[in-house]
Amino acid sequence: MARAKHPQQYYDQIKDKFREERNLRLGYRPPGTDQFTSEFSGDLAKYAVDPYAKDVPSREPISDEVEVLFIGGGFSALLTSARLRERGIESVRIVERGSDVGGTWYWNRYPGAACDVVSYDYLPLLDELDYVPVNHYSRGPEIFSHCQAIAHKYNLYDLAVFNTTVTETRWDESDQLWHVKTDRGDVMRAQFVICANGTLAKPKLSAIAGMESFAGHSFHTSRWDYDYTGQNLEHLKDKVVGIIGTGASAVQIVPELAKVAKEVFVFQRTPSSIDVRDDWPTDPNWARKLEPGWQNKRRSKVLAAVENSLEKRAAKGASSPEEKLKKQENANIDYMMRIHKRIDEIVDDPATADALKPWYMFMCKRPCFHNEYLPSFNLPNVHLVDTHGQGITKISPRGPVFEGKEYGLDLLIYATGFEVQQTGIYNDIVGVDAVNLQDKYADGIRTLLGIHTAGFPNLFIMGGYQASFQFNLTEMLQTQGDHIAACIDYVFANGYHTLDVSDAAEEWWVQEVIGHRGKTGRSEECTPGYYNFEGNEQRRQDGNYNGGFRQYFEHQGLVREKMQENFHLASRKT
Ligand code: NDP
Repeated sequence: MARAKHPQQYYDQIKDKFREERNLRLGYRPPGTDQFTSEFSGDLAKYAVDPYAKDVPSREPISDEVEVLFIGGGFSALLTSARLRERGIESVRIVERGSDVGGTWYWNRYPGAACDVVSYDYLPLLDELDYVPVNHYSRGPEIFSHCQAIAHKYNLYDLAVFNTTVTETRWDESDQLWHVKTDRGDVMRAQFVICANGTLAKPKLSAIAGMESFAGHSFHTSRWDYDYTGQNLEHLKDKVVGIIGTGASAVQIVPELAKVAKEVFVFQRTPSSIDVRDDWPTDPNWARKLEPGWQNKRRSKVLAAVENSLEKRAAKGASSPEEKLKKQENANIDYMMRIHKRIDEIVDDPATADALKPWYMFMCKRPCFHNEYLPSFNLPNVHLVDTHGQGITKISPRGPVFEGKEYGLDLLIYATGFEVQQTGIYNDIVGVDAVNLQDKYADGIRTLLGIHTAGFPNLFIMGGYQASFQFNLTEMLQTQGDHIAACIDYVFANGYHTLDVSDAAEEWWVQEVIGHRGKTGRSEECTPGYYNFEGNEQRRQDGNYNGGFRQYFEHQGLVREKMQENFHLASRKT
């Protein structure tokens, strides 16, 4: 049995410090997500404007009918469309707010954008597109191009409608179709609607007093203004730049700003954990030897694997559940202290190094991997403004103010993140008997597999709550896309028109989700962040399914084995 590296007292003291830091943060903030705003109207409207959509063409409103309509054109829509095409479904439409497909990778074009999941696993449909990524980790532009390549291969541009936001999705009993209204005056009809509008799609801003008064230039990371910065940030040479937030986006952006800008101020509330990024160019000899179907084989292995995390390994041989938990926590703390040590080794100034140390368990917040972020703080033009949990609460016309000091800036970048997993409920979704989905969810989300919800026939939700959570999101989305395509195929192949989940199947899943929540209490003890609803953890079923990814995948298959039991299937009424 592996022995703990330190006496238990060492770990207990660190846990006390974690708790102290969490409570400090909770004390400063308005509860939960109330501290943020994502309603960008009035003075804030500029933060939602799409800087990449130049010269949006005017067009007549559309009034037609398709078989399948996707709300959103990111990976969810792309990888599901591929499966629908493989099953011979022809009329597939993507309706997308941006001016192209790509979703996250359309919007997040900030300098340094890259994905932290190994490219050969993250980029979907590599077999189908006969493509091998350039590096072990893909950069943003390569991923965006891959999205476009998928859309071309599966002819998704033909019916796609861009620069268009869906405002209402209403089930119409008279023709038993969904009527989808948009901000361009369209009323499109569709037999099936798939909510594919992303898990972190809507930018949010910390609601900071005085932010509208800032006289310099400002934008959110997902709306990068290259007209202002220059394509290679060359216009920032004589500019003082500030960035609020130190999550995964900022960690990639700061090193790029540091190379060019005159001065960079990084306003930190909670540091991220930063580990090594082990990247390399794809070995052409390896790529040449890959056999057709190689990515699907990799996927199958992931789906068959039993989770074998650092914590699970550490817990081996534990004699009781309490001992198991302790061993897991201690292994987690050992990892976080290694992250601290790395900071001490890299960052020259001891006070800055201390301020950059994250005091919470690994995975309380989204972990980051970067080789240049920490060294940036050794550069004379880069300054960390550590607010020690408080955050920036005031912005004057000149810039952020902290502890009475005003930081005069030319450019202020908000790296404050996104609304989380609201997929399916951005527009008004109104089902059978005029029930609004928001109202149905008022006492808690109710779905089967996070995908189907009763009373909303032929509607599918991707990437929402009550589905499994995977660090590699596309892996999870691909299972959902495969499942949805199989369901639609079943409806067509058996001469039905509608599929609606039964109340019993939905209730079973809600109880499954509840049964797997809060087993360790870890999430409640975490420092606030979007993984634990900003510290607001009392929601029973409004979260992910925590029963494991393999189990989630197996449940999908079992649900499909009993289509007649789990769904009401009906022909079109005449
Ligand atoms: P996050 O939500 O992760 O980070 C927001 C940041 O803003 C946090 O550091 C937060 O601090 C900080 N913040 C909020 N309000 C204030 C304030 N008033 N003053 C100071 N700081 C404040 O957003 P990101 O855009 O960084 O990342 C979102 C997600 O997108 C990631 O978690 C990841 O899933 C994905 N992503 C993945 C990437 C990759 O693969 N490498 C790259 C980029 C994004 P606090 O922590 O205290 O709340």
